[in-house]
Amino acid sequence: MDECIFCKIIKGEIPSFKVYEDEKVFAFEDINPIQEGHTLVIPKRHAGNLWEMTDGDLAAVQIAGKRIGLAIKKALDATGVACLQLNGRGANQVVMHYHLHLIPRLEGGPPLPVSNWELKAGDMARIKAVAERITSALG
Ligand code: 5GP
Ligand code: ZN
Repeated sequence: MDECIFCKIIKGEIPSFKVYEDEKVFAFEDINPIQEGHTLVIPKRHAGNLWEMTDGDLAAVQIAGKRIGLAIKKALDATGVACLQLNGRGANQVVMHYHLHLIPRLEGGPPLPVSNWELKAGDMARIKAVAERITSALG
């Protein structure tokens, strides 16, 4: 995709701090890190979101993310790593090239906003009804 900024990063047309690359995957540091070490793992083949990904690219990104996440943990002595992936404007996806965020929580650092929500008990009847709707949408 000519106008896609992540495709341009893969091609080297926009500079990036690369941490990993293989035949299918590219990984680099986010320039607006939530925490130090915030890394993005992307497929080399353009896909706008989860549902445009081939199963092969999806597996390759996830497997590389597993390895890079461990390297982040080791390098930064992280107490945890959030793996986050947004799809669609409503979910706050800003760059329309599939990307897996790897966001470490560092010792003594603030809680990660992306993994820090309040637990409130739901209405069991509504949860059951929604579960049934999702199951039937699976076909
Ligand atoms: P999204 O909300 O789409 O999941 O996140 C997009 C991410 O891409 C953001 O965290 C943002 O900081 C990052 N980003 C946007 N443009 C650039 C760029 O040109 N270079 C790098 N390294 N990261 C970018
Ligand atoms: Zn792209």
